[in-house]
Amino acid sequence: MSLDDFDRYPLLFGPSPVHRLDRLTAHLGGARIWAKREDCNSGLAYGGNKTRKLEYIVPDILASGADTLVSIGGYQSNHTRQVAAVAARLGLKARLVQEKWVDWPDVVNDKVGNILLSRIMGADVRLDPSGFDIGLRDSWEQAMEDVRAAGGTPYGIPAGASEHRLGGLGFAQWAREVEQQEQELGVFFDTIVVCTVTGSTHAGMIAGFAGQNRRVIGIDASATIEKTRAQVERIARHTSALIGGPEPRDDEITVLDGWAGDLYGIPVASTIDAIRLTGSLEGMIIDPVYEGKSMAGLIDLVTNRDIPTDSTVLYAHLGGQPALNAYAGAF
Ligand code: PLP
Repeated sequence: MSLDDFDRYPLLFGPSPVHRLDRLTAHLGGARIWAKREDCNSGLAYGGNKTRKLEYIVPDILASGADTLVSIGGYQSNHTRQVAAVAARLGLKARLVQEKWVDWPDVVNDKVGNILLSRIMGADVRLDPSGFDIGLRDSWEQAMEDVRAAGGTPYGIPAGASEHRLGGLGFAQWAREVEQQEQELGVFFDTIVVCTVTGSTHAGMIAGFAGQNRRVIGIDASATIEKTRAQVERIARHTSALIGGPEPRDDEITVLDGWAGDLYGIPVASTIDAIRLTGSLEGMIIDPVYEGKSMAGLIDLVTNRDIPTDSTVLYAHLGGQPALNAYAGAF
């Protein structure tokens, strides 16, 4: 099988935009920096990385005959917001388990941003007191049972769509899209920087670029680095096998820690600095849970020359800005 053998249901506008970050590049004084923008990849509730992953999962949803998508995330999950949008687009119901993954003091944390958008789109949003975990959860299994008990037919999508057998395909395809855009732009991105938590975004990229002369650097934002690293490796190897690509070498699987702080979802000083710097130099908005942390990593790696001066870096902007509304207190 190759990637082309998998059905893909169009949810994106087309290839996501790629552009230079000239003022950030000049400010850091090292490698040339570009961005590829999953934060504006779709008209479905602001899009994001999950919308791209879901393009390969929707055909399986439709074939299953399900009437309700069941998924899970934190109160400010971008993933559940994108599942709600896709359910709306497909004319299905969405049942969302929103767990208390983050102990953040803004009183509107369970009311604004992502969770507000999911409610507007008609999803059945249920709050749950459980804490952060990237694996499969009892509360999610229970929600599936509840849907069945009420006479519905659920289709389960795990956190971040990562523990789904097709979860890595969207970003394996992203790698093809990058190669195409490189041809058009006459540029080669020797280094990719991407935020990683539940793993299938980074893992899909690893599978898609396997065997090429590039570094795909995952920056951990889970603060449970061993779990995330293991999940990235497992999904990367599984996805490579699925698309009949080369088996990724160990040195192609790189997840770095150092920018997540102690807890998932809690921004640290470097996160806030990265958000302000990117906003003030480029007008590019990033969030305090994910992209602020991966951008903090990029800034340090470019500044300390871990990414050499003659590199051309592609920063994968995976979306997530709606959560900013729930973090007003950090600014
Ligand atoms: N960036 C944003 C904005 C996200 O919503 C997520 C989701 O978890 C990530 C990065 C990390 O992606 P993944 O869970 O596939 O590792």
